[in-house]
Amino acid sequence: MHCPFCGANDTRVTDSRLVVDGDQVRRRRQCANCSERFTTYETAELVMPRVVKSDGSRETFDEAKLRGGMLRALEKRPVSAEDIEAAVERIRQSLRARGEREVQARDVGETVMQTLKQLDQVAYIRFASVYRKFQDLDEFRAEIDRISQEPKS
Ligand SMILES: [Zn+2]
Repeated sequence: MHCPFCGANDTRVTDSRLVVDGDQVRRRRQCANCSERFTTYETAELVMPRVVKSDGSRETFDEAKLRGGMLRALEKRPVSAEDIEAAVERIRQSLRARGEREVQARDVGETVMQTLKQLDQVAYIRFASVYRKFQDLDEFRAEIDRISQEPKS
């Protein structure tokens, strides 16, 4: 960390504390060269990985698109807006937690499906039927049967 006053890179931290729900660290620093004091803020990098589509093209992670797809699947289902937001945040976190710069669109879809499955099984089926483009009705029915046989959590 360079001193903003004299440019020396020998600065020391005199105090550090968490701010804003612990998402940020505020540090007081003092330059060893000119003795000026200054404050820095550190925030964890919250950049989402880029999404690699099946044709190899890349796009920026689009949270609005993710939320839109989930809301369509959840239309008229008894799931609160709060639970949906929490689910969107879980998906974001799980994608970030991979620590990769890029993530396959397929993996994003699978993550959304797994999340919806825990949230609402009808929404999960709706999403999966669009997403996986079930080959035929039998496959779709098999998936529904499989789900209805799973123990409820
Ligand atoms: Zn300085």
